[in-house]
Amino acid sequence: MAKFPEAEARKMKNIFVCKRCKSKIRAPILKVLAGRVSCRKCDSKALRTKRKR
Ligand SMILES: [Zn+2]
Repeated sequence: MAKFPEAEARKMKNIFVCKRCKSKIRAPILKVLAGRVSCRKCDSKALRTKRKR
Protein backbone atom coordinates (compact mmCIF):
# COMPACT_ATOMS: atom_id res chain seq x y z
CA MET A 1 0.00 0.00 0.00
CA ALA A 2 1.40 3.32 -0.95
CA LYS A 3 0.32 5.41 1.94
CA PHE A 4 2.98 7.99 1.29
CA PRO A 5 3.51 8.28 -2.42
CA GLU A 6 6.56 10.43 -2.00
CA ALA A 7 8.30 8.06 0.34
CA GLU A 8 7.37 5.16 -1.86
CA ALA A 9 8.79 6.89 -4.89
CA ARG A 10 11.95 7.75 -3.09
CA LYS A 11 12.40 4.20 -1.96
CA MET A 12 12.01 2.43 -5.23
CA LYS A 13 12.03 4.76 -8.17
CA ASN A 14 15.64 5.75 -7.92
CA ILE A 15 17.00 2.33 -7.35
CA PHE A 16 17.63 -0.06 -10.14
CA VAL A 17 19.03 -3.53 -10.23
CA CYS A 18 21.33 -4.80 -12.89
CA LYS A 19 19.77 -7.76 -14.63
CA ARG A 20 23.12 -9.32 -15.24
CA CYS A 21 25.02 -9.03 -11.99
CA LYS A 22 22.23 -7.99 -9.62
CA SER A 23 24.05 -5.01 -8.26
CA LYS A 24 22.04 -2.07 -7.13
CA ILE A 25 22.37 1.25 -8.83
CA ARG A 26 20.88 4.47 -7.65
CA ALA A 27 20.07 6.85 -10.45
CA PRO A 28 17.30 9.18 -11.51
CA ILE A 29 14.67 7.29 -13.43
CA LEU A 30 14.83 9.70 -16.32
CA LYS A 31 18.48 8.98 -16.85
CA VAL A 32 17.90 5.27 -16.76
CA LEU A 33 15.04 5.46 -19.23
CA ALA A 34 17.17 7.57 -21.51
CA GLY A 35 19.78 4.82 -21.45
CA ARG A 36 22.42 6.99 -19.90
CA VAL A 37 23.08 4.81 -16.91
CA SER A 38 25.03 1.63 -17.04
CA CYS A 39 26.08 -0.84 -14.40
CA ARG A 40 29.19 0.03 -12.50
CA LYS A 41 30.40 -3.53 -12.45
CA CYS A 42 29.54 -5.14 -15.73
CA ASP A 43 28.70 -2.08 -17.81
CA SER A 44 25.35 -3.52 -18.73
CA LYS A 45 22.42 -1.28 -19.48
CA ALA A 46 19.89 -3.94 -18.65
CA LEU A 47 18.44 -2.46 -15.51
CA ARG A 48 15.16 -3.01 -13.86
CA THR A 49 13.38 -1.26 -11.06
CA LYS A 50 14.00 -2.69 -7.66
CA ARG A 51 10.55 -4.00 -7.00
CA LYS A 52 9.25 -6.21 -9.73
CA ARG A 53 6.60 -8.78 -9.16
ZN1 LIG B 1 25.86 -5.33 -13.70
